[in-house]
Amino acid sequence: MAKMAFVVEDEENIREVIKCALESCGLHVLGFEEAELLFPEMEKHLPDLILLDIMLPGMDGLTALRQIKAGPAAHVPVILLTAKSSEIDKVTGLDLGADDYVTKPFGVLELMARVRAALRHTDQSGSSKSVLTSHGIRLDKERHEVTLNERAVELTLKEFELLKLLMENQGKAMTRNSLLDNVWGYGYAGETRTLDMHVRSLRQKLGADCDGGRFITTVRGVGYKFDG
Ligand code: CA
Repeated sequence: MAKMAFVVEDEENIREVIKCALESCGLHVLGFEEAELLFPEMEKHLPDLILLDIMLPGMDGLTALRQIKAGPAAHVPVILLTAKSSEIDKVTGLDLGADDYVTKPFGVLELMARVRAALRHTDQSGSSKSVLTSHGIRLDKERHEVTLNERAVELTLKEFELLKLLMENQGKAMTRNSLLDNVWGYGYAGETRTLDMHVRSLRQKLGADCDGGRFITTVRGVGYKFDG
C-alpha cells in the first residue's frame, strides 16, 4: 500500500511543488492550507509523514507540531518547512519532536532526500515489540507484513487488521461485534457475513502452507479466537 503524506503549506505554488516531489517518491499526498484542517483528517486516518510549514495563517506550525506530538499521531515523522533560517525556530522545532526541517527556498532533490530519510527511519523503527509471532505466523505491525513459516502471505488491509486484533488477544474469545467495531468501525455492527467471509479467506491464506489457519477457531455463539 502506498504511503501517505500530509502537507501543510499556505502558499499554493509551494504546496504544489512539494506535492509533485512527494508523488514522485511514490507517496499519496493530501495538501492543507491551514494546520487546523489537519486534525479532523487525522481522526479519519494517520499519515506516514507530515510536512509542516511554520509560518501559517491561524494556527502556526510549531503550535500544530505540539498538538500532533501530544495525540495519536505522535509517532508520525514531521518535517518542518521554514522560510526563516532562524536557528531558534529549528531548535524549538526539534525540541518539540520534529524529525527534520527544510529551509525555504529548498531544492526539490534536497526535499526528496529528506523525505526518504524520514520514511526510512520509520521503517527501521519496526522494533521487536511491534511484531507478533505465534504458530509460525509472524505479523509485523509497522511494516504491515505477514509471513507464515518465513513465506510472505498477501493479506488485504481488513484481513491484516483482523489477524492483528486476534493475535493481540490471543487465547481470548472475541465477539463478532467487537471484531466488526474494531476492524470496520461503527455502523458495521451486525454485518456478520462480512466478518465471516474475511475469516474464511484469512484461514485459507494462512492454511495453504501448514495449517496456520486452524488456529483461528470459531467460538460458537460468540465469535472467534486465536488459539494460545
Ligand atoms: Ca507559510
